[in-house]
Amino acid sequence: MTAQDKLIKASHLINMDDIIREGHPTLREKAAEVALPLSDEDIILGEKMMQFLKNSQDPVTAEKMGLRGGVGLAAPQLDVSKRIIACLVPNPEDEEGNPPTEAYSLQAIMYNPKIVAHSVQQAALADGEGCLSVDRVVEGYVPRHARITVEYLDKNGEKHKVKFKGYNAIVVQHEIDHLNGVMFYDRINIAEPFKIEDGVIILD
Ligand SMILES: [Zn+2]
Repeated sequence: MTAQDKLIKASHLINMDDIIREGHPTLREKAAEVALPLSDEDIILGEKMMQFLKNSQDPVTAEKMGLRGGVGLAAPQLDVSKRIIACLVPNPEDEEGNPPTEAYSLQAIMYNPKIVAHSVQQAALADGEGCLSVDRVVEGYVPRHARITVEYLDKNGEKHKVKFKGYNAIVVQHEIDHLNGVMFYDRINIAEPFKIEDGVIILD
């Protein structure tokens, strides 16, 4: 049985044991394009990945299942070397603690995502980045494109062309990096991890 066969079983919920960690060779491979039309197996895998993110962000479920919270997941992190990513970025509560009008600023399962345009300007998260495949803190700015345009297919095989900026642009680039065998810390300046190059936006 392949890793994917196990993950897509109706009774299975993706959990931390399914996620491979740094050092595993699959994380360094260039993942294959998903075959079209999309197979049921690939559609179900995408949905399972999104369900994992939802579970990981639900305090009760995350505690019960022992999940680290995540806003993105790429199929190679599940030892499935295919170009599939899921992103789920929640909007914050307002100052009084009321839930946001729109629950998510980004919720998408993307097949064969591709950055087709990007800003010259770069951006990095003030607190650096983390990864479900990295069980340690790696400090430092991770410079990325501040704005990107991404083309991808949804589960129905329909093509989308979407612009991202701010935190969402960072998340999407982190996940697409996984499809190319790139880890976030590859992009940190080892000698000076918190050096800010001219013109780089630091996102709080
Ligand atoms: Zn990651």
